[in-house]
Amino acid sequence: MISQPSPNFNDRTAGEIKYLILHYTGMATGEVALQRLCDERSKVSAHYLIEEDGRIFTLVPEAARAWHAGVASWEEDHDINGLSLGIELVNPGHDTPGYKGDYRLFPEAQMAALVTLCKEILSRHKIAPWHILGHSDVAPDRKSDPGELFDWQFLASQAIGFWPDRATEMSVTTSVKIKLFQQGLADYGYGIDITGQPDPQTQAVMQAFQRHFRPADIRGIADPECHSILENLLEKRRNY
Ligand SMILES: [Zn+2]
Repeated sequence: MISQPSPNFNDRTAGEIKYLILHYTGMATGEVALQRLCDERSKVSAHYLIEEDGRIFTLVPEAARAWHAGVASWEEDHDINGLSLGIELVNPGHDTPGYKGDYRLFPEAQMAALVTLCKEILSRHKIAPWHILGHSDVAPDRKSDPGELFDWQFLASQAIGFWPDRATEMSVTTSVKIKLFQQGLADYGYGIDITGQPDPQTQAVMQAFQRHFRPADIRGIADPECHSILENLLEKRRNY
């Protein structure tokens, strides 16, 4: 691990660490991202940054509250920074207004380093599998990282986070009841209002859910496959 201290942190007051939040840097190179995360004017940071070649940088001590999640929520928690560790993965990320991204696969060396780091973190802190999340899971209306090219399935195969069982049966209904779906997403932890309407917030949360658990189609449409995946995850959570 390479020490690259960032001044952007403060004391933890919210409680014990119980979330692990994964990000991509969304900048042209790892060097530029490191500079920004260590610049006190940027007011952003993370505990770790992992380069595409697998080098791990430590920026903020785990005992301190780094500034990576911003306005975010999961279950009843809103101070996600105060309750989490944040890992930045170097990747140029999606196009956004005013920025031409170069979103690409996360290389094997980077994923291997991530697995090693996550295993160490999980040995130090009690973090439930459904608390290992992407930035987009906790801030679906603003964020799309680490995104649909991030291999959550591989991570779950290393006992890091949940992945739905392939044997998941398709639900029999073809029309998905939006209210039930919203309730299920809320039960899993997503910050979503139960409106019974396919409104913009529901589409944003659906899309975050799909980027994480069904990356083949991330249009944000509530379909039967997503419904069965959600039910499977809720069952895993109940049985854990
Ligand atoms: Zn992020």
